Amino acid sequence: MTADPVDVLRLLEAPTRPEPPAARPLRLISALATHGRVARAEGLAGVGAGYELRLPGIGGRYLAGLAGHAHEQGWRAAEVAALLDAVEGRASMWIVSPSAAALRRAGLFGSGVGRKACARWSAGCWRPAPVDPDALARVAAAGRARAVCAGAVSGAGAPRRIVEAVGADGVQLGWLDGGLAVSLRVPWTVELLVAPALPGGSLMALRERIASAPRCSWCGVPMLGPDCRRCLPGART
Ligand SMILES: [Zn+2]
Repeated sequence: MTADPVDVLRLLEAPTRPEPPAARPLRLISALATHGRVARAEGLAGVGAGYELRLPGIGGRYLAGLAGHAHEQGWRAAEVAALLDAVEGRASMWIVSPSAAALRRAGLFGSGVGRKACARWSAGCWRPAPVDPDALARVAAAGRARAVCAGAVSGAGAPRRIVEAVGADGVQLGWLDGGLAVSLRVPWTVELLVAPALPGGSLMALRERIASAPRCSWCGVPMLGPDCRRCLPGART
């Protein structure tokens, strides 16, 4: 069998070992993107399809920053997905807006919950909550000492009592012209995020756990628990 000399030359020109592709960052899908919500609810999550964030606004930005940092440290996309899943599950977040309908439209809670205009993320799901500045202030005061505690005020006209509640000393408070208020199409929103702190040492320890964890045979993401809830229909709301 004779090889075409032109083909042989072409082979010689080709690098003997192609450059390994650079690890791609994990693609993040906004918590407010409809297709992301549907994929999440129906268990259509796969690492190739990106990671559907469950926290919008300040929570999503915090997780995006964490994902960027982990990627820079050489984490693979599937490992970053496992990290985000673990941090999201342990975070708490509150969104106060003047319209409960807007929070419902955004899929943060179902219908038939009255006019309450506060959504609370806790134990891995969004639920309606009463608008209670005192409770928010207590959370901000307790959270700032032991976790990442950040608040955000977006749009214009947020009630002063609610802003003051999340703006306790030690809470990083950001003021945004657009932010979540624009995404939810409401005049203003006030957000409070309490997320587990991940100093360098604990992030490295977590990476070791994630790297040695068994991988879900369906979506390929390392599982820190006994089974994968990312790709199970209805497990992630
Ligand atoms: Zn899975």
